[in-house]
Amino acid sequence: MKEEKIISFIRSLHKSDAFIPLHAPYFGGNEKKYLNECIDSTFVSSVGPFVNNFEKEIAKYVDAQHAVAVVNGTSAIHTALEVVGVKENDEVITQALTFVATANAIAYCKAKPLFIDVNKESMGLSPTALKTFLEENTTVKNGVCINSLTNRKIKACLPMHTFGFPCRIVEICDICEAFGIPVIEDAAEALGSSVNGKKIGTFGTIGVFSFNGNKLITAGGGGALVTNNTKYAQKAKHITTTGKKNHPFEFFHDELAYNYRMPNLNAALICAQLEQIEVFLKDKRELANDYRSFFEALGVTVRSEEENTKANYWLICLELNNKEERDHYLKFLNQNEIMARPIWQLMYKLPMYENCYRDDQKNAQYLEDRIINIPSSYRNNG
Ligand SMILES: *Cc1c(COP(=O)(O)O)cnc(C)c1O
Repeated sequence: MKEEKIISFIRSLHKSDAFIPLHAPYFGGNEKKYLNECIDSTFVSSVGPFVNNFEKEIAKYVDAQHAVAVVNGTSAIHTALEVVGVKENDEVITQALTFVATANAIAYCKAKPLFIDVNKESMGLSPTALKTFLEENTTVKNGVCINSLTNRKIKACLPMHTFGFPCRIVEICDICEAFGIPVIEDAAEALGSSVNGKKIGTFGTIGVFSFNGNKLITAGGGGALVTNNTKYAQKAKHITTTGKKNHPFEFFHDELAYNYRMPNLNAALICAQLEQIEVFLKDKRELANDYRSFFEALGVTVRSEEENTKANYWLICLELNNKEERDHYLKFLNQNEIMARPIWQLMYKLPMYENCYRDDQKNAQYLEDRIINIPSSYRNNG
């Protein structure tokens, strides 16, 4: 039977007869050593050498001038939006096909998300739909884009790189530039992905990563902003460290700000993880290829990266033929202790976002009905 063949193939790839998770972390490097250094030194909290070291290393890895480490990816997006000036009653363009954190970060600013469709190939924000929306509904006054439907300012565009597949970020940045809209990349899932050899997260004004336990590399919990804009980097550091002015002993905080600092313990873990990223990326690409040759023979598509782009294959995706087939796969895989998950429900189907603007969402709905993730963990093959 086809289902049995699939189950035994997935088990053989992951060499396991037990429950197979979607994405398990792997700690095979200096994790314990660095964590012990934190404990021995007593620097476990929001100040410490690993935080500075991590900021330096992640900036170097993606080739950005600055990085700011924070507690998680959601706070990183929230911070990035504040840094580019998103305020109450402003609007932010994003996609409805995303994890809820993308939309929540907009709502934390008391701004409104505008949900624009994705394109099928990238699963990220569609440049065509974006351009159509902007041309039909907006005007640029004094360099600020105004939505004629609401009279509100569109202060940012927040595309997301779905499961580590780069969205069409070059086109998106070009369009947004013409309309005076800064681009913030939600690259939470896309560390290590690239377009034309340039790392995802460095195309927009600010890029954001997550190091949650299920991501490609993990800090336990953590996030980072990367940017080439020195002022923005300073502002991000300032508003994530309680707005405190530098002083040898006085406490003076010059604005309402956040405690979004990454603790040194988490930074120690992520420093060790970042050292292993190339090994993880290589194996995940091989895993995707193995899945592809197997599923192709069954007439099932394993999603691939677009031309001139490299995905990190964080979560490997199957594209099934319709919702019934999708439901069938989710059921038989999970019943057999092989974790499989659907892509997210579109944001405007959630109660918090049901009244938000959206365009036709044809492609987003198409993908919602067909995409599932299958076990994608790094396998230690020695
Ligand atoms: C994981 C994720 C986030 C949030 O990151 P956390 O570290 O969990 O706060 C944001 N956006 C996307 C697309 C994500 O996948």
